[in-house]
Amino acid sequence: MIQTKGIAALKAKEALVPYRFERRDPKEYDVVIDIKYCGICHSDIHMTRDEWGFGSPFPMVPGHEIAGVVRTVGGKVTKYKIGDRVGVGCMVDSCRECAHCKKGMEQYCIPGNTMTYGSMERDGSAITQGGYSDVIVVNEDYVLRIPDNLPLDKAAPLLCAGITTYSPLNHWKTGPGKKVAVMGLGGLGHMAVKIAKAMGAEVTVLSQSEKKEIDAKRLGADDFLNTKSPKVFQENTLRFDLIINTVSSADLNMANYFGLLKLDGTLVSVGAPEKPLTIHPFPLILMRRNFAGSVIGSIKETQEMLDFCGKHNITPEIELIEPNQVNDAYARVLKSDIRYRFVIDMGKI
Ligand code: NAP
Ligand code: ZN
Ligand code: ZN
Repeated sequence: MIQTKGIAALKAKEALVPYRFERRDPKEYDVVIDIKYCGICHSDIHMTRDEWGFGSPFPMVPGHEIAGVVRTVGGKVTKYKIGDRVGVGCMVDSCRECAHCKKGMEQYCIPGNTMTYGSMERDGSAITQGGYSDVIVVNEDYVLRIPDNLPLDKAAPLLCAGITTYSPLNHWKTGPGKKVAVMGLGGLGHMAVKIAKAMGAEVTVLSQSEKKEIDAKRLGADDFLNTKSPKVFQENTLRFDLIINTVSSADLNMANYFGLLKLDGTLVSVGAPEKPLTIHPFPLILMRRNFAGSVIGSIKETQEMLDFCGKHNITPEIELIEPNQVNDAYARVLKSDIRYRFVIDMGKI
């Protein structure tokens, strides 16, 4: 077994603490990765607080924005070799047999994919543990290659924040001539702005934090709307083709946001709040608007996103922290006081 140093939540809503555990020795198709950096996603906070009612298993080592270097590989691995710069995102396995897995959409695996942490391994041997740790063992089919020009610390958040916004932007055909709005300028939101802009769309940020306007424009947004001002919704009706909702809270008047969509426009929620959103169908009915959801992206699409970010030199804005600062970082994320993603330097664990 591989001795591993990590940071874990031992119980829901408790502070994370140093935690030692063991990972499996590599099987034939496994890649052993020395983790260099791991991003902090708001989902880590929802999970460690057990806010989604999944019955999160504890102890839980969170982290699914993993960037590192291959330490060793199993005997039959062909895709990676020692020293390769690699990433791991939100899933480390899936059934591989269902209709969705066969179509290369493992994120929608019908029996459920194996999440990077908090899932039972498919062979029932252990609960998966995530990237707030110094090493991870992952089947080669769920490992991603990080382009050479992207530094590992900045590449880490692409593995969740990047793909979760790239996938719906891609699916709903973002490109020149399309007007896209992004709700919430946090970890996911700021990646959505950068990616949608690189895809050629006109991009508007919808934020409750007036003070983020300068940043939004610096990140590439063409426009910024302060959602605390009611007239913003009246003045911008029927404006957008696509809205990506990245807000982590359900405290939203959805009718206002639906009203911003054009006829046949789509609002995609990727934000996963603890409480349900309240929706009245009228604004959808009256303009044949669509309300949709989306979860991360497939392995193929994640590699495509990494290559797209490499080509366009897109990286997140990060604040690098040491492992012992994780609890303070969580408190700041909850206050929307982060510009725009915390990344933990796992070399310092
Ligand atoms: P984050 O960095 O905390 O950003 C969330 C943003 O939401 C904040 O920056 C803030 O933006 C806005 N916000 C927060 N509280 C709000 C409130 N009460 N009312 C209105 N706006 C509020 O979080 P993140 O890491 O980007 O994650 C965002 C959400 O996506 C989380 O729920 C996470 O679990 C979910 N997620 C889903 C997937 C998926 O596959 N679907 C993947 C990853 C994450 P402003 O200050 O600009 O308003
Ligand atoms: Zn995430
Ligand atoms: Zn499947």
